[in-house]
Amino acid sequence: MIKRSFFTLSNKPRLTCALLEPDPEAPVKMDVPALLTLLLPDPIDSTRAALIKKGDVVKKGQKLLLYENSTGYAVSPVSGIIKSIDTFTVDNISGLRTRITIEKDARDTEQTGYADMAEDLSFAARHLTQLPGAPPFDGLIQHNGKISTLVITAADTDLLTTTSQYIGTARATLLQEGAQILKRITNLSKIYLLIPGYLQDRVRFDGVTVMPASLTYPDTLPAMVMKNHLDKVLPAGKTPDEMGVCFIRAEAVVSLARAYEAKAPVFEKCITLIDKTGARHRIEAVIGTPLSSIFSQLGIQIDGQDRIIIGGPMQGFATFTPHHPVTPDMDTVLIQDKGDIISLSDTNCVNCGKCIQACPADIPVNLLVRFLQATQYETAADKCDLESCIDCGLCAYVCTSRIALSQYIRLGKHELKNSELTHKGRLSMNHTKLTVSHAPFWHDGDSLFKKNLNVIIALLPAAVFGILQFGAPALGVLALSMSFAILWEMIINLITKKPLTVGDLDSALIGLLFGMMLPAVIPWWIVLVGTFVAVFMGKMIFGGTGANPFNPALLGMAVLMLSWNMFFDFNTAYVNYEFDFTALAPLVAVKFQAPAPICFH
Ligand code: SF4
Ligand code: SF4
Repeated sequence: MIKRSFFTLSNKPRLTCALLEPDPEAPVKMDVPALLTLLLPDPIDSTRAALIKKGDVVKKGQKLLLYENSTGYAVSPVSGIIKSIDTFTVDNISGLRTRITIEKDARDTEQTGYADMAEDLSFAARHLTQLPGAPPFDGLIQHNGKISTLVITAADTDLLTTTSQYIGTARATLLQEGAQILKRITNLSKIYLLIPGYLQDRVRFDGVTVMPASLTYPDTLPAMVMKNHLDKVLPAGKTPDEMGVCFIRAEAVVSLARAYEAKAPVFEKCITLIDKTGARHRIEAVIGTPLSSIFSQLGIQIDGQDRIIIGGPMQGFATFTPHHPVTPDMDTVLIQDKGDIISLSDTNCVNCGKCIQACPADIPVNLLVRFLQATQYETAADKCDLESCIDCGLCAYVCTSRIALSQYIRLGKHELKNSELTHKGRLSMNHTKLTVSHAPFWHDGDSLFKKNLNVIIALLPAAVFGILQFGAPALGVLALSMSFAILWEMIINLITKKPLTVGDLDSALIGLLFGMMLPAVIPWWIVLVGTFVAVFMGKMIFGGTGANPFNPALLGMAVLMLSWNMFFDFNTAYVNYEFDFTALAPLVAVKFQAPAPICFH
């Protein structure tokens, strides 16, 4: 999946989207369970009289609103009885929602009133926004008059999934019918179909311009499509709708065609499910089906601390419950085994620059994260373009320090938008057994350990040369310097009651660099003091790796040279030169006198 050229200086990852099989199989239909769960966007307000309550009988296709002027609604996919209505939260940032649990009955009574479905935008907004694919009719109404371009996306926006590609090709006839209905109800003439280039020959549409999409992530995200295909740059903080471009999933268009054909809402959602082994399942489940029912029908076992991700590895979110329901916009479900979950760290940014190279929005992420960590959200927006972030997750995917960059960015945007909201009072999810966190759920594998190990390996030839020239004393200084540096960091970790950080090899590298700058005949106690200055005053006192304003090894050298100059004064050293010992300046000797082995002995 990830390709890196051996001969490039660029750290930009090249992640490619999954390809549809040459002869894709139809989705496996899941049974409708006895209990279904629907989510409403509004939270419960105990001060208001609700329009629905526990024990109400509902019909298939019935619109369920919580209050008279609620903004969102759900549509019951079955006839039955409301068993419960309670509060539900997806994560700490998305806010509270309402969960309705319906027990299916055998009567299968259907809501009437759909027989004369008008080809009209306001009817669609009032009744059809919960179709599979979640058609954005609300956005079209809200920005009516502004929107001039409609982009139907048959290209998937995250990795691993093929849902949109499958719908775009296997249901091309319905897609074309739906596109014509969409054209009539929106009166828009500029309609594009975004489909991966390798699939464009499989679709032929009247009145729709086909846009071949690249398979490189994140080229199928709306902001990138606008920039690369429509020549429009999405300004910071704006949505595509506000810029006159509306994106709609291919599945939403197909559902529209099916609904107008059946004169009733449809509920079967196509999903790409990737299990713990990486095997891909294409399934079709009724909206409201708990994921746990799908897992048991497919024989998938979920264990404690596993992670269930709704969406792909770069942009999805981890749910805390295996009973999370199928929703109209759910294209992908990814299950990660607890053993495959990557660890994040609270290490500081080391300014490696990988995130900046990876960012398609050219955001100085290393600076941005510092403002976000300091909760200076407005400065982050003003100085570091926080609102230009397109949430691709690439910066966190490549971060050497494994900082939770996406979480910081999402929190920053959320706090900017709703400055009056705080985390206090939100539902705690600490009781859960699954592992939850924000995307990306993949990492390119880089780490501080690898980075420091590479530098140590790169220094080894010079260190070995020094040992060959200066003999055992040089080896002794290097060994002492590395050991003392590691020891100091361990002691400081223990005293400050912080987790041991020596595993990232940073103190070993400081010790090696420091030792290589010392004369081979330096007393051991100078090494002890110097490594203390380097590790404690040069790094730990500022907050550890990445927080240091100076190079720790150089700071150690500077303090030693000011304090015990005689050990570093080369003229004095020449005066006290011990001629039995190898030369102080071997390269000078090699250049001006004779080959090293001759002049040194
Ligand atoms: S998530 Fe935002 S900041 Fe990070 S690489 Fe993507 S666009 Fe840039
Ligand atoms: S450590 Fe992470 S945040 Fe800092 S520059 Fe490197 S990739 Fe960016």
